[in-house]
Amino acid sequence: MAELLLSGGTLIDGTGAGPRPNTSVLVAGDRIVAVGAEADAAAVTGGATVIDVSGLTVMPGLIDAHVHVTLGEPASNDELFHRREPAAAAFVAAHSARRILQAGVTSFLDVDGLYNIGPALRDAIACGAVEGPTMKAGTYALMTAVGGTAGRFIPDQGTAGYAEVVRDKDEMIRVVRRQVKDGSDVIKVHVTGSIPNRPGEIQVWTREEMKVVCDTAHDLGVTVGAHCRGDAATLDSILAGADIIWHASYMGEAALEAMVEHKVAVGPVFTFLANLNQYGPKAGATSSVRDVFRNEMEQTGAMLRRAYDAGVPLLCGSESGFSITPYGHWHAREMEVFVEHLGLTPLEAITCCTSTNAIALGQQGEVGTIEAGRRADILVLEGDPSLDVSILGDKSRFRHLLCRGRQVELAPVPERTPLPSERAAPWSAVSLTWELAHS
Ligand SMILES: [Zn+2]
Repeated sequence: MAELLLSGGTLIDGTGAGPRPNTSVLVAGDRIVAVGAEADAAAVTGGATVIDVSGLTVMPGLIDAHVHVTLGEPASNDELFHRREPAAAAFVAAHSARRILQAGVTSFLDVDGLYNIGPALRDAIACGAVEGPTMKAGTYALMTAVGGTAGRFIPDQGTAGYAEVVRDKDEMIRVVRRQVKDGSDVIKVHVTGSIPNRPGEIQVWTREEMKVVCDTAHDLGVTVGAHCRGDAATLDSILAGADIIWHASYMGEAALEAMVEHKVAVGPVFTFLANLNQYGPKAGATSSVRDVFRNEMEQTGAMLRRAYDAGVPLLCGSESGFSITPYGHWHAREMEVFVEHLGLTPLEAITCCTSTNAIALGQQGEVGTIEAGRRADILVLEGDPSLDVSILGDKSRFRHLLCRGRQVELAPVPERTPLPSERAAPWSAVSLTWELAHS
């Protein structure tokens, strides 16, 4: 089997250990087979191809625990719910997967999305028909008719956009089973949702209903991720058996205690809000939502830090898939937020985005660290991310990327232009009143 030696780099292995200078990594096929002096020795006898990476950092490929690869970067719920056709969305998702890969992401969890494209894309990548990171995928997010973050775009029954409405416990069981048959690795539940005339998100599932979903999913060997913006929703989801809490916004003492007791993984997925808050105006975003991030961080950040200190796995997800979080640009951003707002060291944040994130994929011991026997997902870059984690967002620093042992072409994929009818096209930005016309 052809061997490849990454020779003499500084290794950040993803376990939380500090950088180790002059540490080679030997790859054979899709595996890391040796690290350090053992790698150098084996390469001499084995006749490996040698790549000199001295002066560069060698680390695990990034893992993104929260992506929506099928949404196609909508700028509004109107686009997301009314302007996405299955076949076109699938082709665009294949393009998006390559962009994610070139951002140094060698595997990701597609938490939910349109139609059954997620599992289909996962399988297309696995069989070599499409180039992309290794995927785990869900399909539609389960909602009650008042659920979701799209108000009245959520129908009373059936599917719309990324939503599938379940009306009673029998239907919850039926839909979970069908999603598993359709290839889902995970079930996503929107435990809180928004409706137009109420502020924030309200809990729209009971603990008993969540338990029905969790029990059915677990019986079939798949995990459950619960979207919770609210304290009681987080508590009820944990007690019902959810495996991952997404957001955990405004979590209180009881929910924190349950999270620590059950060691349920939590992914705040702050990147969307952080981007809106910091860079929104550059993208023409309205400023009314900018305070949301500050408020949510103040109330949630301290609790998440306590959870992290108590041993709760903290997952790193980017929410890539929207116009504020386009594919291939923001997969390292959550680490910056962890450093800035939760007080993690850059090295701790890197560990979240590599070995800890393997939990989201159910692939602990397979990916996320540079150790003999692990899959050869390796990023080589200029600079030391253990001093400044933000450099992981700068693709111009990347020198080599291995995904499943294969070298990835780092020349950027050409950007695409919008498909016909993909974008909402207003007749005007404001109403053309008589006064405006004559002003
Ligand atoms: Zn999401």
